[in-house]
Amino acid sequence: MSVHDIDCEAVIEQLFDFLDRELDEELSARIDHHLQRCRDCFSRAEFERRLRARVGEAAEQEAPERLRRRLRALMDTF
Ligand SMILES: [Zn+2]
Repeated sequence: MSVHDIDCEAVIEQLFDFLDRELDEELSARIDHHLQRCRDCFSRAEFERRLRARVGEAAEQEAPERLRRRLRALMDTF
């Protein structure tokens, strides 16, 4: 293990920031590197990534529905 490697604990700790792309390039690259070699962390990261994608889609589908409802409520007042 080289000095540039980070352990699983550190990867999991920073997984959310990593997925939000809030880490600096170097740390991000280290985590990326770790994920390529560590199956446990990779599946954990994939799980979170998929979960986020699904939550994002749900939010997008919900917005127009809420807007429609608000428009209808507005029209009822006339
Ligand atoms: Zn790991």
